[in-house]
Amino acid sequence: CEVTVSAKKGRVFSGIRPTGRAHLGNYLGAIKNYVALQDEYECLYCIVDLHALTTLEDTSELRQNTYEMALDLLAAGIRPQETILFVQSHVPQVTELHLLLSMVTPLGKLTDLPTFKDKARQQPHNVNYGLVGYPVLMAADIILYKTSVVPVGIDQAPHLEFTREVVRSFNYRYRTDVLIEPQMKTTEFPKVIGIDGKEKMSKSLDNHIEIAATPEETRQRVMMMVTDPARIRRTDPGNPDVCNVFSLHKVFSGAEEVETINVECRRAGIGCVECKQRFAENLNRALEPFRARRAELAAQPDFVYATLEDGAKRARAIAEKTMEEVRAAAQLP
Ligand code: SF4
Repeated sequence: CEVTVSAKKGRVFSGIRPTGRAHLGNYLGAIKNYVALQDEYECLYCIVDLHALTTLEDTSELRQNTYEMALDLLAAGIRPQETILFVQSHVPQVTELHLLLSMVTPLGKLTDLPTFKDKARQQPHNVNYGLVGYPVLMAADIILYKTSVVPVGIDQAPHLEFTREVVRSFNYRYRTDVLIEPQMKTTEFPKVIGIDGKEKMSKSLDNHIEIAATPEETRQRVMMMVTDPARIRRTDPGNPDVCNVFSLHKVFSGAEEVETINVECRRAGIGCVECKQRFAENLNRALEPFRARRAELAAQPDFVYATLEDGAKRARAIAEKTMEEVRAAAQLP
């Protein structure tokens, strides 16, 4: 409601890719933070299906994955009465702004970005125009809603800086101040390592743990986690500081248990099997309310779709207002 919104500190926007069911990395790196930000900011959270098309050639699961992501967000505590939760392609104004912003963006700047070079290396057969313009679309998303704050991990900081430059270029080119430079808000837990103990948790690397998995599936994935690589035998002392299981214990287990593991691991008082079993139990316990809420929501898909439609309607209202100002600033007849 208006009263609540106006009392808040500013407007937050963030986009999340429709990768289907969220994993622990999504949860700790983004979703948990999304939920917390609602207390202080007016929030817009967008499931970025158009962004997904830059790398996705088979789109047969895109709809289902978008829906699954919406379920996870709602079950995790996104409050759709106050927060605007929507799907990117439901607000077509973003594509118009993308085009207008592309006119003030030097091509060399885009092709020089390390993220573009990485993607081009990963999919050399599909270096499409959308891939080059990805940061411009991201900038359009942020700018369209007159966002004041963007929560980002450290690795995304250059993209936000890029958005700020685009704002300055547009405002300078058209001698206007209609676009706002967003500020960066770094997340507390930006990177979660996967069960391989090496790479950032991700579905494509199959090193993830889904938050909506069953307790048994969760336990099985946890038991596969790589621990301190120097600890070969049960009798070897371990080093929790280099163990991914321990870093996640710190998030999901109580302070006393964390301290016990810290001490016992170093003197081989606890084995990795027991340590992981304890972690799986604590993780399952922590995720129980989320899973119950998710099951309730999954039983009412009409409610979830209606929520996304309502979010899109509210987002379009903000977007159209911005576009009226943008079109006027660019002197479009
Ligand atoms: Fe990691 Fe726990 Fe094994 Fe120590 S006992 S190496 S903290 S899994």
